[in-house]
Amino acid sequence: MAKSPESEHPIKAYGYAARDTSGTFSPLTFSRRATRDKDVRFKVLYCGICHSDLHFAKNEWGVTTYPVVPGHEIVGVVTEVGSKVKTFKVGETVGVGCLVGSCRSCQSCSNNLEQFCPKMTFTYAFPNYSDGTITYGGYSDHMVADEHFVLHWPDNLPLDSGAPLLCAGITTYSPLKHYGLDKPGMKIGIVGLGGLGHVAVKIAKALGAEVTVFSTTPDKKEEALDGLKADHFIVSKDMDQMQAATGTLDGILDTVSASHPIVPFLNILKTDGKLVLVGMPGVPHELPAFPLVLGRKIVGGSNIGGLKETQEMLDFCAKHGITADIEVIPIDYVNTAMDRLLKSDVRYRFVIDVANSIKAPSELRSRV
Ligand code: NAP
Ligand code: ZN
Ligand code: ZN
Repeated sequence: MAKSPESEHPIKAYGYAARDTSGTFSPLTFSRRATRDKDVRFKVLYCGICHSDLHFAKNEWGVTTYPVVPGHEIVGVVTEVGSKVKTFKVGETVGVGCLVGSCRSCQSCSNNLEQFCPKMTFTYAFPNYSDGTITYGGYSDHMVADEHFVLHWPDNLPLDSGAPLLCAGITTYSPLKHYGLDKPGMKIGIVGLGGLGHVAVKIAKALGAEVTVFSTTPDKKEEALDGLKADHFIVSKDMDQMQAATGTLDGILDTVSASHPIVPFLNILKTDGKLVLVGMPGVPHELPAFPLVLGRKIVGGSNIGGLKETQEMLDFCAKHGITADIEVIPIDYVNTAMDRLLKSDVRYRFVIDVANSIKAPSELRSRV
């Protein structure tokens, strides 16, 4: 049973939390730990809104502990470092993504795959491996994390439009690399043009791919081709367009957040093609054997990425000028933002301007 941070931790924090399956957000005062030897404490500047935040707020995966303060696309400025912190200093811009802890000694951790560590700690709504308390994310005024889980922010990467890379960026960069879908000239499909999908298009293009977007929203065609520089756009509900693409792609990244058929995408793969699922609807996919067996096709999955690869991805995006297309919002807009996200009514990521919009009670204001 996790301990309550309210009773365990000495420093007050202030954020926005969902308290039940309605997923409605309201302000919450909670607590964060004192800065340990290897901790970096920072003021939150910007935090992206990932669809996982929405799944969690409404407990769509059945694992949420309330109250939940989401947010794992966090950019901030360091306010304090522990006595043994070696690579960060006060005033530096930093990022924190989906992970804030792992055992640091298992095989996954040794291979820089902290996301697969059995003791991995997600940034929010998760028992913290190091002390058993529940984690709280970036919809809040400040954060504290072990330096291993803090990213150096590249100088030329914008803070607001760069923030979503900490989840949307690594979640799409990592599978393209891991599954060998990063070779120039490859024909790659991206299913779902949302927060993850639009960043995936930019990363795949920067890797030299010929990119096809599959979307349920015909209105996104012009933006995909002209704005995001995708090469082709297919309306995934149009069976003629889907049929015409049969057997053409080397790999497909499926970023869709809701239940949808995946067999039509298997048919679009070449022999030996790979369909990689990163979207996580709360219901199972139907997966018949025939389209896999007959084309020796592979269906895989991918979970964010380790810390080393996340830093590599940030540096890659900074080098190639890749950021998210964002709508910056104040934190008290989060309920409306969630409603709009559910309707795919955002181009393409909401980012909360936390520092300029969060209004902690006066007695909490000067703690960090
Ligand atoms: P998002 O911004 O809401 O984008 C999802 C897109 O999916 C929508 O823009 C829409 O694109 C498409 N879509 C939505 N409903 C659909 C439906 N009923 N049928 C077909 N397509 C539909 O969400 P996101 O933040 O990119 O996250 C996407 C998913 O990835 C979520 O499930 C999230 O939890 C998951 N995720 C996984 C990881 C991981 O490590 N694997 C990391 C982060 C997020 P079109 O309008 O173009 O059709
Ligand atoms: Zn995310
Ligand atoms: Zn481990």
